[in-house]
Amino acid sequence: MNERYADIIVDISHEKVDRPFRYRIPDALLGEIVPGVRVHVPFGKGNKDILGYVVDLADAADYPEEKIKEIAAIDKDAATVESDLIRIAYWMKSHYGSTMITALKTVIPVKQKLKQAEKKKIIRRCEPEEIKRQISICAKKRQTAKIRVLEALLDEEVLPYSLIREKLNVAAPTLNSLEKQGMIAIESESYYRNPVKQIAGREAAKPLSEKQRFIIEDIVGEYHGGKRGTYLIHGITGSGKTEVYLGIIEQMVAMGKQAIVLIPEIALTYQTLLRFYKRFGDRVSVMNSTLSMGEKYDQMERARKGELDVIIGPRSALFTPFPDLGVIVIDEEHENSYKSESMPKYHARETAMQIAKIKGASVVLGSATPSLEAYYRAGKGEHKLYQLSERLTGGSLPKVYTIDLREELKEGNRSIFSRKLKSLLENRLMAGEQSMLFLNRRGYAGFVSCRACGHVMKCPHCDVSLSEHRNGKLVCHYCGYEESRPKTCPACGSKYLLGFKAGTEQIEEAVHKEFPTARVLRMDADSTRSKESYEKILSAFADGAADILVGTQMIVKGHDFPNVTLVGILAADLSLNQNDYRAGERTFQLLTQAAGRAGRGSKAGEVVIQTYQPEHYSIIHAAKQDYEGFYAEEIVYRELLQYPPAAHMLAVLSIAKEEKAGGEVLQQFVRFLREKIEEQAMPYVIGPAPAALSRLNDLYRHILYFKHAEYEKLVLIKDILEAYAKEQDFKNISIQFDFDPMTIY
Ligand code: ADP
Ligand code: ZN
Ligand code: ZN
Repeated sequence: MNERYADIIVDISHEKVDRPFRYRIPDALLGEIVPGVRVHVPFGKGNKDILGYVVDLADAADYPEEKIKEIAAIDKDAATVESDLIRIAYWMKSHYGSTMITALKTVIPVKQKLKQAEKKKIIRRCEPEEIKRQISICAKKRQTAKIRVLEALLDEEVLPYSLIREKLNVAAPTLNSLEKQGMIAIESESYYRNPVKQIAGREAAKPLSEKQRFIIEDIVGEYHGGKRGTYLIHGITGSGKTEVYLGIIEQMVAMGKQAIVLIPEIALTYQTLLRFYKRFGDRVSVMNSTLSMGEKYDQMERARKGELDVIIGPRSALFTPFPDLGVIVIDEEHENSYKSESMPKYHARETAMQIAKIKGASVVLGSATPSLEAYYRAGKGEHKLYQLSERLTGGSLPKVYTIDLREELKEGNRSIFSRKLKSLLENRLMAGEQSMLFLNRRGYAGFVSCRACGHVMKCPHCDVSLSEHRNGKLVCHYCGYEESRPKTCPACGSKYLLGFKAGTEQIEEAVHKEFPTARVLRMDADSTRSKESYEKILSAFADGAADILVGTQMIVKGHDFPNVTLVGILAADLSLNQNDYRAGERTFQLLTQAAGRAGRGSKAGEVVIQTYQPEHYSIIHAAKQDYEGFYAEEIVYRELLQYPPAAHMLAVLSIAKEEKAGGEVLQQFVRFLREKIEEQAMPYVIGPAPAALSRLNDLYRHILYFKHAEYEKLVLIKDILEAYAKEQDFKNISIQFDFDPMTIY
């Protein structure tokens, strides 16, 4: 391409990125003008000299050639955080596919003045001795919500109201009652800049274990030596990873650098935040979805001005405009929420590495169950790997029983509880201990399996399970293959070939039937429409308001219930039979997390995994909490079938008003590529086919996949298709690209 023109915006703000101005690049500056560079341009009628940023390049004028103006010069002191953000946006646009405007809007915070908001805080109104006395009184009455507030107040005299409500899961009546007792005062504060007020009382680092100290010194040592790396800390929950992050950040801050810490929103607990505040005081801030646009913008401004050292938040905190970033930490790096679901569909892990490259920072990843991507790269020496294998807080790993549901059926047990699970549940009810029953319903995609032998109906071409449609057909959502639903199991002839339909509600009913006296709480997408009800259920369970908590994956993440000594996983295969190449990985992660819920307190825990496929490697290794064993088998499968991370995938999704149109466009794409590209350079094509979610909001969705060993080859395909779609100007059809997708379409 002959890119002799540049698009320039004169103000880096949400409102202005929609209207870039095109200028000609003078011959002398060709090659130097790239996205992110700051330039002097003549502007307006009087050709006033102003500064602008190059956001994109173009090969044609959008204006009569003789009228288009020329860039005057490159700005000499051009290294600004805006330049960095534009370079990041440009990389995201090229790497993931989207327009430059959409990419810019992703990285630039919405400018919005912070309104005069009234914020409340909680102030301790009595001596610590009195607080301690109250705690023991509350303990007798089992008022655990009150205890949580009082314990927090032992450490701090002033606490933000919102944190107490949201992160400690304490309801307003509890706080009002404490106020009536004269223990606390609730006060309003008319203006605040920081979502978390400074918390008095700093805390020094814990004496580190030898392993922890080694990791910190190694990473910081390499940084001092001029090396900027990506590091992966593989360590079970409670093995001291967060303490390692804190240690690294502390040294970065001492050098005058800043740090970004990504934590999945659901795991951003009060306890975690408190640890950061105690170490870094008011130079740390948090970014999350409860902040208003104005508050978010305000945090970004504080970071830009050098008022902050550390920001903690989910994915979007990556774009915090720090002047001198030292490190990006990504905790629970395997979490799916790190991948954006809207364009550009970026992954925070990959994007963090790119940001680190632009800003000269290091990246630290941590997980108990690393993503295949991160572990694969560690294996190739691209990430340095550290292992932390002991729980520092004591507590042993739970005892795990794997129950074969086919055997239960053979023995005449048709209940959703195996005999083992039933007897252990009874046991817990007698002992007054809590249990969690976990149903992985997200995996429920209408797959069909045999209750007698466990056989799952799969696509003969894709090795993924077929989905049952209402018309009785079994359909592959990868390639479009379909067949009629057989009456009997093709493997054993049994007539128990069924779709798995149990939901959390049915489980709750079954618990009531089997254990009429048990107090049950249920948590799933239906029972937690609002954020508040989610918090309410969790705090009620933490307070001992129920014996059994039934729920979906929401219950396995980020919450500690010390009184839970039994975890039942009702149908481990549900997530295994997703028509998705990541199903094994997701299942392993979920089972490992769920199992880890049992026995967090002083009492030992037990876990029952019920499954139709006890021989599946995801289940075997999860039961043993053996990550390496799982990885070794999973990576062979990915390599064999050329799925990420062994190779790369590009998903092209068409969303159309008419039923046929979207699929036809994708077919046109394939034909166009075959004309345009030589046979041997053509990537492996799968589809097009209707997407698993084939209709959404009255729009029809079709999907096309490409596989190739080299990511860059797929970027090329995306570029060709993007240009083609622009030229054809398809009406009422939108096209989305997704590289190495996390979910099925
Ligand atoms: P992870 O992030 O891997 O879950 P944490 O850093 O949160 O682990 O540590 C788990 C628990 O162990 C925390 O309560 C923490 O305070 C404690 N801990 C961490 N490091 C040490 C240490 N060196 N000595 C004693 N306790 C520690
Ligand atoms: Zn198929
Ligand atoms: Zn069978």
